Amino acid sequence: MSGFHGLFIPGPTNMPFPIRQAMDIPLEDQRSPDFPAFTLPLFRDLKKAFKTEKGQVFLFPASGTGGWEAAITNTLSPGDKVLVAVFGQFSHLWADLCRRHGLIVDVIETEWGEGAPVEIYEQRLREDSAHEIKAVLVCHNETATGVTSDVAGVRRALDAAGHPALLLVDGVSSIASIDFRMDEWGVDIAVSGSQKGFMLPTGLAIVAVSPKALEAGLSAKCPRCFFDFADMIRTNKDGYFPYTPATTLMRGLRASLDLLFAEGLDNVFERHRRVAEGARRAVAAWGLTLCAKEPRWHSNTVTAICVPKGFNSDDVVKTAYHRYRMSLGVGLSKVAGRVFRIGHIGAINELMLLQALAGCEMALRDVGVDVAPGSGVAAAQEYFRETAPRMALAKAA
Ligand SMILES: *Cc1c(COP(=O)(O)O)cnc(C)c1O
Repeated sequence: MSGFHGLFIPGPTNMPFPIRQAMDIPLEDQRSPDFPAFTLPLFRDLKKAFKTEKGQVFLFPASGTGGWEAAITNTLSPGDKVLVAVFGQFSHLWADLCRRHGLIVDVIETEWGEGAPVEIYEQRLREDSAHEIKAVLVCHNETATGVTSDVAGVRRALDAAGHPALLLVDGVSSIASIDFRMDEWGVDIAVSGSQKGFMLPTGLAIVAVSPKALEAGLSAKCPRCFFDFADMIRTNKDGYFPYTPATTLMRGLRASLDLLFAEGLDNVFERHRRVAEGARRAVAAWGLTLCAKEPRWHSNTVTAICVPKGFNSDDVVKTAYHRYRMSLGVGLSKVAGRVFRIGHIGAINELMLLQALAGCEMALRDVGVDVAPGSGVAAAQEYFRETAPRMALAKAA
């Protein structure tokens, strides 16, 4: 089969050629004298992707889930209370991981399709006058529902309540694609992974940590070894690691950061916003609805779309896969069978999205959903035409 399989899942994402090429190299000596000349600038530049100057970024050979585990085991002790809103599969899984580590999880049950309820966070924090809550967890971009939350708002809730808890954020499907400001928002730990906005294979947990979170680590009793920040700090300061780092992925990460910075982070965010808006225009033209309940929660990296009653979204995803060689995201857990997702994160542009929309339209019609052929594609096309950079417009005759 020639051409590319359409990869429109929210991770792993499409990998740009410069990143592939950067990783098509012999394996290297991670204890060589010149290795730090590569790693130290990499650590420094990674901070820019998180918008932190005060924080420190760690690279673990793991996936995002490992980053979650690193965040809590390095800052908390069994029996500590954490406050987390659960409104999708990823926020649910992080809460579950906390429970398995012996933490007491105070869950704010939130409807799937809604974002982090800032007012309820504030209320729970105000009620906790004894400061039993040691950490507040927020999923910045809930990949299961296509919902982006107001992390700055959660910081304001902590401040308004005068509460000293740490703010731990899952930014796995937002960082490097949606604006994220670690220092400005007072985030204590931000977790990301390599296979989403960083456009790499799975295999790196990328974790940025504030000085306050590092200090909390001095008394945190959760067992940890592989994910211990202290071991990382001791060796990272000279450009080395406590165990074998994923050097090939790190070469790819270097290329990824170079691409992101060459485009400019603000341009990267704007590109994601435009592409996502094209997807939303298409959904409206199809007469379908988003899983995200309000515009303020619309995600710019993943669009979760509800199928009409009587249809199974898995059929849409399977049809797209088998008939049109295109991968879409399935509905997870509570929204299984009701939602399918278009991932538009990382190396994505307008015409790639049109490909995804065309495939969705065909698959939707194949399973019997009555969308007008070409309607979604046309709505996105017109939006992209209207908003295309003026500079690129050829002179009319
Ligand atoms: C992908 C993802 C994760 C982590 O998943 P891994 O499969 O362990 O990399 C965590 N949170 C969110 C929001 C995600 O999208």
